[in-house]
Amino acid sequence: MHLRKQSEILRSAQNDIDEIGSRVLASVTISVIRLSMMKPNYVRVIIDRGIRRELDYSVPETLAGRIAIGSRVRVPFRDKFALATVLATLEKSDAKGIRPIDALVGEAPTLSPSLLELAHWMSAYYCCPLETVMRSLLPQVIRRAEVGWKKQLVVHPSKIDLDKIDNLRKRAPRQAELLEAIGKLEKPVPAAELLRNISSDNQTLRALAKRGLIELREEAIARDPHGDEMFVPTTNLQLNTEQNLALEKIRRALAAPEKAKPILLHGVTGSGKTEIYLQAIRLALETGRTAIVLVPEISLTPQTVERFKSRFAEMHQGVAVLHSHLSEGERHDEWHKIHSGQARIVIGARSAVFAPLKDVGLIIVDEEHETTYKQEEAPRYHARDVAVVRAKLEKCAVVLGSATPSLESYHNATTGKYDLLTLTQRVDDQQMPLMRIVDLRQERRKEKIAPILSEKLSQAIADRLAKCEQTILFLNRRGFSTSLLCSHCGAARNCPNCSVALTFHRHMARLTCHLCGHTAAVPKKCPECGKDALIYAGFGTEKVESTVSQLFPKANVRRMDADSMTRKEAYRETLRNFRAGKIDILVGTQMIAKGLHFPNVTLVGIINADLALHLPDFRAGERTFQLLTQVAGRAGRGERPGEVFVQTYTPFSPSIQFARHHDFAGYFQQELEFRERCDFPPFKHAVLITVRSAHEGRAKLSAETMARRLKESLGPEFMLSEATPAPLEKLQGQFRFHILLRGEAIMRLSRLVRETLEKLPLPEDVIAAVDVDPYQLL
Ligand SMILES: [Zn+2]
Ligand SMILES: [Zn+2]
Repeated sequence: MHLRKQSEILRSAQNDIDEIGSRVLASVTISVIRLSMMKPNYVRVIIDRGIRRELDYSVPETLAGRIAIGSRVRVPFRDKFALATVLATLEKSDAKGIRPIDALVGEAPTLSPSLLELAHWMSAYYCCPLETVMRSLLPQVIRRAEVGWKKQLVVHPSKIDLDKIDNLRKRAPRQAELLEAIGKLEKPVPAAELLRNISSDNQTLRALAKRGLIELREEAIARDPHGDEMFVPTTNLQLNTEQNLALEKIRRALAAPEKAKPILLHGVTGSGKTEIYLQAIRLALETGRTAIVLVPEISLTPQTVERFKSRFAEMHQGVAVLHSHLSEGERHDEWHKIHSGQARIVIGARSAVFAPLKDVGLIIVDEEHETTYKQEEAPRYHARDVAVVRAKLEKCAVVLGSATPSLESYHNATTGKYDLLTLTQRVDDQQMPLMRIVDLRQERRKEKIAPILSEKLSQAIADRLAKCEQTILFLNRRGFSTSLLCSHCGAARNCPNCSVALTFHRHMARLTCHLCGHTAAVPKKCPECGKDALIYAGFGTEKVESTVSQLFPKANVRRMDADSMTRKEAYRETLRNFRAGKIDILVGTQMIAKGLHFPNVTLVGIINADLALHLPDFRAGERTFQLLTQVAGRAGRGERPGEVFVQTYTPFSPSIQFARHHDFAGYFQQELEFRERCDFPPFKHAVLITVRSAHEGRAKLSAETMARRLKESLGPEFMLSEATPAPLEKLQGQFRFHILLRGEAIMRLSRLVRETLEKLPLPEDVIAAVDVDPYQLL
């Protein structure tokens, strides 16, 4: 029997799926497992190259029985070798000139059948070649054949006579000191770590080994990025009634995951969602299964990791952490800890949704509304949506948590696709913070120009300083001044590569483009008209910091944004100092908006609530509502109630008014009505095609041709825009054009787009990117 190609089976199954979460691919999973148990004669692979074809190879006798779906192999390709992943095993192949597999890379299959199936789904849904999806599933460091555990010099504990130390002390005091430290070791320690801790050096260590006093070995040791920290075990906290109900519901989903719907946990800020996650993970582990927790990169703070590691402190190495700041070596080790089954809980940012855990029982997506779950380069997937699909494939429970759920998830909950759980109370019955709106239009009338800090907000800060309480000031814009204008001729200093103004950064004394990184010196005179009439306009966090420092010279003010936190340690240090009360006022961008919990913060000031509102994006209102609610949630997390000042020029915009009254349901309802009226998600799926080129004319012509072809091939059920210049017309020297498609049957739409684009040759210097369910519309 000639077995059908995996991707064919999947494709036919997928054609029936119109949207995420509408069907379980149970039958497909079974066929995959059945295939993998046979002794195949041939395999079909996808190689790690940008070719969009799958290739067949024969299985040599030496490898018989050892190759399975998901195995990594080395195969001859043209006149070289290439690495590849096995997609299917076959009894027969019709391909010509089949060559044998050269070698198996690693023993166990690297990807489980369900992860491979997820890859096929992503390729079809996100309109993206399978090979590109594979690059996300398998980190670069895992794809390479030769990597193994890093070998390093390890010092073993050994009994050391005090006499020997004393003997050495006169002749070689540094050796004696080191020997003494080794005598106190309780477990093997990497030499580098030991030497660092007691400020000794390699030469001294080698000298001791030469004398035969200690033993040194080259060993593979897992690099643990959090290894030198101690975690004090914690136990379950007492849950309130609402939390208990939520946990009970999750318990039932864990017991019968094939019947359970995804759970949307909507809990106000401070309602104790994390405690529910922790106890739910414990339940999953007790049934022998594992758990994945996705957290937005920005919230994956040491504080968050510590909370998980402490609760499961009894499982050494049982919690793996994946995020983008890991070194290649650390990523390799964490990945293998997960793949080998040593780690049973994975906590991580977006890509942790692909963690190669076995027996997954529970997937949690915290702050599911976060836009950073969306990857902005191919494959342009959304980790929350991928998590829901993976949960279906793995037959496990999935919990999406948020204080401000996305419209998409909330809509799924109100239409019965998801189960909705609500937490309305903060733990310990803390009050929701009081929100005060400051109308900047009135402030401007009073002062001619609107101040950075309104009088009311300054007074509130002074009041907190007097009471030794802390303040957070939030502004989602970096830099000192956002543009440099000529007051004579009106010319602004724009980036030569992008259609945006350059931002002035005072600490660098330069103008910088936040999109491409271009920097320029600050001109003394206007380069256009030569007049000495340049003025700085607009302001960012750097200016807020300096204004606040001038207003409150005795206060300790710190700024936290991508400019001030370039060092990894600076971030931890600032948070530690803020927690310890050494900082009175923390100024920052969204870096401080999420997840941080500081009991002594009783005041939050939002310097300008309108920044997101005016973006040409149908989600602008939703983002503003979420941001206000999240930032406000930082206030009043302790015993004293919190107060929030929202400075705005549009005090009556719905996002601000609903956020002010903590009225989630009201907000969702009016926003959903708006989206439905305009045929926007979650009522229709959107696909955004960006056509770009350094050559404006070619980009425009290609986009127009593409729009015409799409119009011919898409049926009337789909809405199609003209090819138009993108709101951000020029980016990094490339001219950009958009085509926006909308429709309900997203799988069909994706397929039609792929087929149309495959038949449309583009000039060499024109690139088209397809973004399904886009979040970035600029
Ligand atoms: Zn000028
Ligand atoms: Zn630029």
